[in-house]
Amino acid sequence: MTAQPVIGVLALQGDVREHQAALTAAGAAVRPVRRPEELAGLAGLTLPGGESTTISKLAVLFGLMDPLRAAIREGLPVYGTCAGLIMLADKILDPSPGPWGPGETPISGQETFGGIDMIVRRNAFGRQNESFEALVDVTGVPGGPVEGVFIRAPWVESVGAGTEVLAEHGGHIVAVRQGTALATSFHPELTGDHRVHELFVHMVRTES
Ligand code: GLN
Repeated sequence: MTAQPVIGVLALQGDVREHQAALTAAGAAVRPVRRPEELAGLAGLTLPGGESTTISKLAVLFGLMDPLRAAIREGLPVYGTCAGLIMLADKILDPSPGPWGPGETPISGQETFGGIDMIVRRNAFGRQNESFEALVDVTGVPGGPVEGVFIRAPWVESVGAGTEVLAEHGGHIVAVRQGTALATSFHPELTGDHRVHELFVHMVRTES
């Protein structure tokens, strides 16, 4: 049990500062991560929202793709929001519109870090101007629903047996956990309500 765990924020693109603020408020010591060597000594890592295709390309460019995959596989606790959720998916669907029927194969259109046994549909809730807020009950977060901010948000199409569904919205999965990996389609870092980050810090503390 660590009093103030050191948690990194992947700082390649996206709402890095907001994650830093939320984690600090939730009791963590926070470090930006841009290089593989900055993964050393971390008790956990958050993956911000932003644009997952950009984060993916920059991760390759900065030499972080393989080290991060390995760190997650070896059990580094991670929390991804929105684009960060996409980066944690073992499989993502091609963003092309149209129903994905039982006969179709999921297409991995971009590289992810993986870590959560789930298939994710990018931009599933619609375009930028279809962004919305909604109250979401999240298992493990006490004190009533959180305000979910959904911005070109993905949803989770399906999960494997080891992945726990923590929240749904409109019949779609929007929060999941597999072991020490947590992901939400929405952005708690944008609301000033730090309860989901507190859940993650708690997960990190009980791991370390
Ligand atoms: N649609 C974005 C993506 O595919 C995610 C949007 C977000 O993080 N707010 O990466």
